[in-house]
Amino acid sequence: MRRPKKFFSGGPRTFVITFVVIVGIVLLAQLVTHMMNTDHVAYSQFSESLTKGKIAQLYQNGQQVEGVYRDGKRFETVVPANWDYRIVERQKDIAYVILPPRQFSLPLILSLLLGFFILGAFLWTMLRQSRSSGSSGGGSGIFGVGRSNAQMFVPEQVKVKFDDVAGLHGAKEDLLDVIDFLKNPKKFSKLGAKVPKGTLMIGEPGNGKTLLAKAVAGEANCAFFSVSASSFVEMFVGVGASRVRDLFARARKNAPCIVFIDEIDAVGSHRGRGYGGGNDEREQTLNQLLTEMDGFATSDDTVVILAATNRPDVLDRALLRPGRFDRQVNVPYPDVRSRLQILQVHIKNIKCDSSVDLDKVARSTVGFSGADLANVVNEAAILAAKAGIKKSNADMFEEALDRITLGKEHKSIVLTELDREMTAYHEAGHTLINILLPDDLEPLHKVTIVPRGRALGVTFSLPERDKYSSNEAEMKALVAKLMAGRIAEELKFDKRATGAHNDFEKATEIVQKMVRFYGMSESLGNVVYKDNDQFSDETVSLIDQEVRRIVKECYDMAAKLLRDNRDKLDKIANGLLESELLSAAQVYALLDMEQPKVATLELESVEADSTSV
Ligand code: ADP
Ligand code: ZN
Repeated sequence: MRRPKKFFSGGPRTFVITFVVIVGIVLLAQLVTHMMNTDHVAYSQFSESLTKGKIAQLYQNGQQVEGVYRDGKRFETVVPANWDYRIVERQKDIAYVILPPRQFSLPLILSLLLGFFILGAFLWTMLRQSRSSGSSGGGSGIFGVGRSNAQMFVPEQVKVKFDDVAGLHGAKEDLLDVIDFLKNPKKFSKLGAKVPKGTLMIGEPGNGKTLLAKAVAGEANCAFFSVSASSFVEMFVGVGASRVRDLFARARKNAPCIVFIDEIDAVGSHRGRGYGGGNDEREQTLNQLLTEMDGFATSDDTVVILAATNRPDVLDRALLRPGRFDRQVNVPYPDVRSRLQILQVHIKNIKCDSSVDLDKVARSTVGFSGADLANVVNEAAILAAKAGIKKSNADMFEEALDRITLGKEHKSIVLTELDREMTAYHEAGHTLINILLPDDLEPLHKVTIVPRGRALGVTFSLPERDKYSSNEAEMKALVAKLMAGRIAEELKFDKRATGAHNDFEKATEIVQKMVRFYGMSESLGNVVYKDNDQFSDETVSLIDQEVRRIVKECYDMAAKLLRDNRDKLDKIANGLLESELLSAAQVYALLDMEQPKVATLELESVEADSTSV
């Protein structure tokens, strides 16, 4: 958490500095007013004023003459070297002083010097302070403009370890070689291995990206810089770029270290996008970031950059190129087991009595982020404190849950138990068809009822090979799989929910293509009906009829399969309700079926392309 630096937070030293500064400013102000109130006049004008008797006082120091008019205004002038001062003696009522050389305006010069000295000393301390104490955010103060406002933590300050991050096993595993590199960079260079310099962490807010980044620093025992990319971008063009430069310079000085850039999309979205059309400032900032990263890629600096975003889709491709953020780590919403572990991590900090059933809390918090869960625990502790009780109890957890849920309602999906069960059956339906038609469908990858974005659940399958064409049986099997979600819901609950809308949309699209483009309908024949063509009413209704017929055929096929395998459907659904995420292997094990051999594929790299329904 960043707090604004308080100006008067430094105790007696700050007080003295402030006092001295004020004195300096007063002295300088006096000097300035003196100079401003003094009129610089030409000799001719001075001469005229003198003969007309307008001058009350006169101080001469060599050729320098200062004086005061009768109306109180001050003036100064320079007189010729051979000026005849006796002209003054002819005037009445004038105070005329000839000052000894050099003494003239000594106090003025002194106060001037003193003022400058004090201000200089002040600026110097400020500069030194903001340089040395990076951890307090050197960005504040007058020198802050071009400096990065990154927070720096020295190794001793980073106390988070991997054990403090619950769940996220995949992400942790992916980050192991980052730790390895930070601890032992020489090993990497010796082996000629690719150095993991830039990693992009993808996930919704509150799921532990920052925590994870910090834990990597904790494990590697290195310094940690944390900054939000949105703080780079300022009103003035060039400021962001200079902040990026400053950040990386500081990072290099503190190597080995981690630079964590949150919300990288704030500077890293496609160029030419975003507010105000071509945004020069953001573009310059992004370019500077790219330049710095390229510099790292070829240097020996042991600096690792971890960036976080929940919008990888808007990122500029240039950021993802090799040598930049070429590695990606997913930080998803926690499944039920991870939720339990997160609760366990946070409950260590508070006291609970035995009525608290964390298992139950974990089960009833689908769609909660790690931060939400931390909040639940915190809220329960507050409720106990308010009630004047030492330990939180189950009722307090119940109430805490309600509060956080209410707060979340607008932001994300909150599921009732019935929603959850329906989702489980829906996904089980897709999954079962996927398994029962192995020849026509891409192999099952995993299935989950943890909400993602706006989808309540997802069944993933994996393309075994790049697909260039599909045949009729495959397309019908896919449509059957799409229908199966709704069918499973109806089988179990005898209810129709809205969740199948997206499935139907996809199915309709596929069948439309079968009928209109691929000649897979007897009654329409091998004719292509393009989108913009004008059809007769008869043709339009024939297309509709055929689309409906084929969809029905697929629906019936799926319904029969599900009815005949009802026991399997129930097993998958129950498995999902229990653990929320099942890998293909786990599904096959549940059903006591042998998993067909899948051509080896790197799962991670395929995930993005996997079809989901
Ligand atoms: P992000 O950076 O993804 O928005 P944070 O790392 O800031 O999320 O997480 C916010 C807080 O939520 C953390 O400080 C921690 O208390 C809690 N939290 C999130 N994920 C986890 C986790 N996996 N294990 C333990 N605590 C977590
Ligand atoms: Zn579906």
